[in-house]
Amino acid sequence: MRPPECAICGNDFEPGEKGGVLHFKKRFSDYVWERKMKRINGVGHPPFADWFCEKHFSRAKQLLSLTINKAMKILREEEEEKK
Ligand SMILES: [Zn+2]
Repeated sequence: MRPPECAICGNDFEPGEKGGVLHFKKRFSDYVWERKMKRINGVGHPPFADWFCEKHFSRAKQLLSLTINKAMKILREEEEEKK
């Protein structure tokens, strides 16, 4: 796992209470990754998961039915609009 750093704003935060890891809908390449990890008994940061800080966690959670690339696109666009 990567250290907790928000995928949207890049802020470091303490995981557990307010932010955390979210797992998005898996793409074909994510299933391939999982199979490979199982085969080599590997661990790593899943390509379909990322950290979200307190500020972005709840919105990101609404997009878990999307794949991570689609969800991130939406989240980043929304973040841009706020500026
Ligand atoms: Zn954030």
